[in-house]
Parts: sequence; structure tokens; C-alpha cells
Amino acid sequence: MPIRTVVMYPDSRLKQRCQPTDPCSTITRDIARDLLDTMDSAPPRTVGIAAPQIGEMSRVIIVDTSRNPKYPNSHGLLTLVNPVITEFTGRQVFREGCLSIPDFTANITRHDVITVCGSSLEGTTITVTTSGFESVVIQHEIDHLDGILFLDRVTHVKTDLFRRKGN
Ligand SMILES: [Zn+2]
Repeated sequence: MPIRTVVMYPDSRLKQRCQPTDPCSTITRDIARDLLDTMDSAPPRTVGIAAPQIGEMSRVIIVDTSRNPKYPNSHGLLTLVNPVITEFTGRQVFREGCLSIPDFTANITRHDVITVCGSSLEGTTITVTTSGFESVVIQHEIDHLDGILFLDRVTHVKTDLFRRKGN
């Protein structure tokens, strides 16, 4: 399966809500594989990607925070189809970036502890409870499925939005 071109901000596909998809279908499996191949080809600390970022308007995300050596204690590679956050508590702030928005990072406030439910590519239910960085990445990727970018969650542009050095 090919590495796909990453859809870049402000492409309108990044602002659309994605449709639920059959987790066991060939189409979903192909999307998940392309997402993984594309994430593998991205900068080494890329820890998440969502289907609309390769132009597929389906509710599929891939998260693997163990790719960042600062966060070894994670669930490893998670492929979630139709993911839903069912419980959340607490608040935390992380500096976030996005493959589709390479020129900026921002401090974003999100839930701390979350429980997310989704389907595997075999159609079984995956339930994960997590906190910290992994929780942030899952929330960031699910936002993509609803057409929400981290830029949309910046509350104070002057103090919380940063241009990446070298860009
Ligand atoms: Zn993103």
C-alpha cells in the first residue's frame, strides 16, 4: 500500500466531519494501512494520524505515542475505527503540532484521563483508558474526524500559538 500525500491546512477536507465506516471492510483496512505507511514516512516523532489527513473521509485514526522516546509507557500502536470518548476527567495543557499544519505549534487544553472505545479492523471492540500525552494525541486525532484542528482550540493566539523555528 502506498504512502499518501498529507492533506495540508487550509484544505477544506480538514474542516469536514467524517462518516462512520465498517471496520471490517476492505476499504477501511486499506485506509488504515495507508495511514500507517504515511505515518511511518513522516518525521520520526509523528505519533498520530487521522483518515482526512490522507483525504479519506472515514472515521479511522492511528496513534502510537511510543514512537516518542519521552513517552514509552503507552498502549503502543492503536488503530481505532469509529472511536468515541466515553468518559473523561481532569484537564491538562500540552504543546501540540500537526502533520497538516507544519508551521505552527500551540498550547492546547484538553481532558486528562479519557476512556475511548472503538473497533479494531477485525470488528472487535477496543476500550482504552489513558492519560497524559497519549490521551492528548487520541483527542487530537478524533478532533480531525469532526473537522476540528488544534488551531480551532487555541484560546489566546498571542500567548499560546507559536511559529516553528526554521519555517
Ligand atoms: Zn493533526
